[in-house]
Amino acid sequence: MRMRAPLAVLGLLLMAMAVDVWAATTQVRSVRLWRAPDNTRLVFDLSGPVQHSVFTLTSPDRLVIDINGATLASPLNVATANTPITSVRSAQRTPTDLRVVVDLKKAVTPKSFTLAPNQQYGNRLVVDLFDNPADANPPPSLPETSVATAPSVPISPSKPDVKLTPVPSGKRDIVVVVDAGHGGEDPGASGGRGQQEKNVVLSIAKELQRQINAERGYRAELTRTGDYFIPLRKRTEIARAKGADLFVSIHADAAPSTAAFGASVFALSDRGATSETARWLADSENRSDLIGGAGAVSLDDKDRMLAGVLLDLSMTASLSSSLNVGQKVLSNIGRVTPLHKSRVEQAGFMVLKSPDIPSILVETGFISNANEANKLTTSSHQQALARSITAGVKQFFQQNPPQGTYIAWLRDNGKLAQGPRTHTVRSGETLAMLAARYDMSVATLRSANALKSDELRVGQDLRIPSAEVATQE
Ligand SMILES: [Zn+2]
Repeated sequence: MRMRAPLAVLGLLLMAMAVDVWAATTQVRSVRLWRAPDNTRLVFDLSGPVQHSVFTLTSPDRLVIDINGATLASPLNVATANTPITSVRSAQRTPTDLRVVVDLKKAVTPKSFTLAPNQQYGNRLVVDLFDNPADANPPPSLPETSVATAPSVPISPSKPDVKLTPVPSGKRDIVVVVDAGHGGEDPGASGGRGQQEKNVVLSIAKELQRQINAERGYRAELTRTGDYFIPLRKRTEIARAKGADLFVSIHADAAPSTAAFGASVFALSDRGATSETARWLADSENRSDLIGGAGAVSLDDKDRMLAGVLLDLSMTASLSSSLNVGQKVLSNIGRVTPLHKSRVEQAGFMVLKSPDIPSILVETGFISNANEANKLTTSSHQQALARSITAGVKQFFQQNPPQGTYIAWLRDNGKLAQGPRTHTVRSGETLAMLAARYDMSVATLRSANALKSDELRVGQDLRIPSAEVATQE
């Protein structure tokens, strides 16, 4: 599949010479487009390097891209739905100078740069059209149907600068993105007295954010801060853009039977995970072109098979973390409100489908049940729910702190008060799996429980030794 190095170099040399001899100009072969939350990216695929300049014109708003030493290989075709672009035109100013004009619905701030070839793509000219801040707020109320066509941000989570906000000792905060379900023209479920899910869950989400922010080493961000709708896929994109270590979506249930009651916690179903992995892979053409991607899952310069394996591993790891944090949140919620199901349920909810971010969905109760609807609209109950979710989240991260965080630093320096914990064995779990989850050796786990064999039975309670003991091995 791969040419031996000397041959490859020779090949490139010959190609370079051929280009030099047969074509004085670089060809612009195609243009690709992505719409991100606050910008639109145009990528021109080129047959070689170019010089270029970019400037804007007003009345009407246009962006002009002059590409010197270039001609157009074929007409530029690009879908501009959901972008500030109305059309992309081009003209040859001189036999070797190409001008591309981007017609705009509103003014943008352009930024452009060129990229050298990599294993997947040749020379490229990248032009980013940043929305002007005045246009960015308030967030648009988009119909749900636009989700399917809205291009997504690339897979590689380009951890944003905000995540590096230092806490004392230069360790970053753990970022929890809290998502209040529904909003705007989508009220969600409703109660008998007109209570609306979108309002209840926003109150709980804001309280949860307040409580998490009060914890040192943690920072919470909201996907929506008011009464407007955000497409489901976009909620996961926001989580990625904010550098989420965990995504928590808050909802309230409704059921045909007004008697139904209780809270539940969901993680993504295995089936949902599998199909989502397939979807991301199918879309890897779009997603792998991330510029300078250095995130946890970069599909750039990996071949397709390897990309699939990496993505699958990431999805599996996230799912296992989601189930873990979900169970902790669920048992804490069980202390403040009845549970609808005593285990984390799994479903193919769209908002849970980030391959690289552990994600849970909390149904805080049934708004269709008069008693629970009353409780859900009470601020004392909202605070209690938020407290229980915060407790579960903290328990999870004390055991699984992401690298480079203040909490990881605390743990690594023996400063986390960790009493002995217990784990109730669930179907399919093995000793090796649990040892890995709790970050200790199988031998430690075995000896802490005086196990004679590695056989576990469902429902068995295991003692999980504290981290300090585990590291003394
Ligand atoms: Zn809902």
